[in-house]
Amino acid sequence: MHFFYYRDGHLYCEDVDLARVAEKFGTPLYVYSAGTILDHYARLDAALAPLDHLICYAVKANSNRAILKLLVDAGAGFDIVSGGELHRVIAAAGDPARCTFAGVGKTREEIESALEQRVYSFNVESEAELDYINRLARTKNLRAPIAVRANPDVDPRTHEYVSTGSHENKFGIALGQLPAVYERAAKMRNVEIVGVQMHIGSQITEAEPFAIAIKKLAPIVRELKSKYDIKFFSIGGGMGIIYRRALDSGSGQWWHDHGGEPAAFSVRDYADAIVPPLRDLGIRILVEPGRFLVGNAGVLLTRVLYVKKSGQKKFVIVDAGMNDLIRPALYHSYHEIAPVKQPVTSRNNSTSGGRVAKMDVVGPVCESGDFFALDREMPELDEDALLAVMSAGAYGFVMASNYNSRPLPAEALVRGETFSLIRKRQTWEDLVSDEIEPEC
Ligand SMILES: *Cc1c(COP(=O)(O)O)cnc(C)c1O
Repeated sequence: MHFFYYRDGHLYCEDVDLARVAEKFGTPLYVYSAGTILDHYARLDAALAPLDHLICYAVKANSNRAILKLLVDAGAGFDIVSGGELHRVIAAAGDPARCTFAGVGKTREEIESALEQRVYSFNVESEAELDYINRLARTKNLRAPIAVRANPDVDPRTHEYVSTGSHENKFGIALGQLPAVYERAAKMRNVEIVGVQMHIGSQITEAEPFAIAIKKLAPIVRELKSKYDIKFFSIGGGMGIIYRRALDSGSGQWWHDHGGEPAAFSVRDYADAIVPPLRDLGIRILVEPGRFLVGNAGVLLTRVLYVKKSGQKKFVIVDAGMNDLIRPALYHSYHEIAPVKQPVTSRNNSTSGGRVAKMDVVGPVCESGDFFALDREMPELDEDALLAVMSAGAYGFVMASNYNSRPLPAEALVRGETFSLIRKRQTWEDLVSDEIEPEC
């Protein structure tokens, strides 16, 4: 369930008309649905119920403290990739003992902070990193809990930039080298072997690649368990979401037909494929979903500034840009764009009758890559119309920048009939406030 739908021609998030939220906080504005995040969490938690498991939310997908707090209260652990993310989790009253620390380039400062905070595990990506963690732990007279990230060399059938578990990319250690790395770790005085980890990629829409990777790792997990008494096997995140027709079925009255879109990722299929082999292992299972929990739970609200016709082309220029949401430019990713006030002509009517036209929806940034949709069939839009870029809850705000000296957008959270600001909009003053007069 994603709680975004049309009610009497108005786009709602839970029980709140999105136009009201934009009115109050301005645009561009990220709006998140607490109910959607908690629903996704609960469904995954229920599907994994046959296993001793911990859901470690991948903080990098959306790290706003209010979102982290929702998940802390739901009982989640966290997968972090930097010292800054650990700081955020702690600021949201999260427990470091439920945090796994991933990433190929942990710095001294980050490792020391994570040691002091007693994270659950360092997910180690190289032998050099293992040595370094051991050395830093020795200076503190501590034992660092570690899991090695295995690279199972599985094709997740997703975009090349988000594929991480094939032999061609920088992540993890090849299965053949894994036993030797664990043997080395076992000899280190200031390291404690606690688990093994994998993560094969992101936006994976089928269950099969996960099952294949688990099957490849299962014998190794058994061996590590008997040799080193490891406590957990983390199977990573990467579960995909719907980007096309990302409105609740029944209320998503689209004016264009997507035709043969790929089937959406199903929690049921995922659980059916992975729970039986994992149960046989008899070990605690960690999962690290990011996008799955928050992706469909957020939209980016933006207002039409100008409509421009140029030759045969029509451009809708909006007040959000690639600095606010970079996914279309970076991954060529598709986001639905829904008018917050549904045009009368398209109500109760999907593909015919209403006035539709092809247009590019673009931002104000001085880059050709600054677009949200190209040649998209949309209803006629007036200047000042409010649009929702759907499925923007993951890898949205967290990748926002100040490019073109545009202040970072604001973020709001909806919960039932209520909504509130969870990050204030930056000001022009903020843009220069960290800069320093040179003394030379
Ligand atoms: C990014 C990442 C995740 C989350 O990926 P999603 O596709 O958002 O689920 C999980 N684990 C690790 C190690 C990651 O780097």
